[in-house]
Amino acid sequence: MRPCRAGLLLAFSFVLVSSSLIMNTRNGSADSKSNSRIGNETKKPKIAFAIHGGAGVISRSTLTPEREREYREKMEEALMAGYHVLENGGASLDAVEAAIKIMEDSPLFNAGKGAVFTNAGTNELDASVMDGRTLKAGAVAGVKHIKNPIVLARMVMEHSPHVMMVGDGAEEFAKQNGMQLVPQEYFFTQRRWDELKKKQEEERQRQSSPAGSGGARPNPFEHELGTVGAVALDNQGNLAAGTSTGGTTNKKFGRVGDSPIIGAGTYANNETCAISATGDGEYFIREVVAYQISALVQFKGKSIQDAADAVIANVGRLGGTGGVIVLGKKGKIAMAFNSQGMYRGYVDADGKPVIEIYR
Ligand code: ASP
Repeated sequence: MRPCRAGLLLAFSFVLVSSSLIMNTRNGSADSKSNSRIGNETKKPKIAFAIHGGAGVISRSTLTPEREREYREKMEEALMAGYHVLENGGASLDAVEAAIKIMEDSPLFNAGKGAVFTNAGTNELDASVMDGRTLKAGAVAGVKHIKNPIVLARMVMEHSPHVMMVGDGAEEFAKQNGMQLVPQEYFFTQRRWDELKKKQEEERQRQSSPAGSGGARPNPFEHELGTVGAVALDNQGNLAAGTSTGGTTNKKFGRVGDSPIIGAGTYANNETCAISATGDGEYFIREVVAYQISALVQFKGKSIQDAADAVIANVGRLGGTGGVIVLGKKGKIAMAFNSQGMYRGYVDADGKPVIEIYR
């Protein structure tokens, strides 16, 4: 072989070997195990997980120590359930679903079992999920007999050609896919019922008081806390996000908030980040909160924290309150809220759960 041809071949094989090493470490996949040892260092693929349990008026004076303990315990259970899925090599979508299901099954949160009541005394639930790898998404709105709306949202994504299904049609789809429906009574909790009655009484008093004498006009969107959401990054570098809610107390029949709207309450894109929002849905829809954060990262090169802060500031300027949890494609977590508090949790670098509530 002529010396220059041998040199070329050598260079070519070097490029091949090094590019396959780079790809394997980046993907962090199971079959990269043997290749991911570079020097003496074993590179573990990064996983990350965060959840929220709603934003709003929460202060140390309104939350009793027992209640606070209950929230912290349930959030930790949900957080670690999702995180264990990721630790065991599971997919980000599975982690999101596992954590949200736990919160939907608890009466503490305004999602699933603990959903708030509509103005007609019914419960209408909304949820959505998005896969950052494929940009596929699924959502349900206004469902009344679905124990775990997040599971149905994922079913819509995976077993239908659609993104969003509502009301009776969504429930028919659930039945056809083998899901058991629950009666409306399943969602009854005294606490949420009392909240509805209180809100309706306040409304009556305001309407019956002569113009101008009704005191400060309350925020019409002020709502009870507890929408839930999760964002995950798995060891394949795939992001996912999900959100589930009962909406707002005393909402009018058929009202749908931001939670099931892809781009408003939920968004995930492997190129940018995964987002789940909570707050005054009407404002979050108008600000297209979740997609706007992703777009600021993608097109303006903003960090996830700067993007989240900017978008929550925009929501505030319109008059809305609430917050977001954001997970970047490299595993960084950002949170932003303009309410008094936000139930939130993440797993730190040592794999330990961190739950926070207040500012
Ligand atoms: N965003 C939800 C909605 O407007 C409520 C919440 O997050 O608390 O339906």
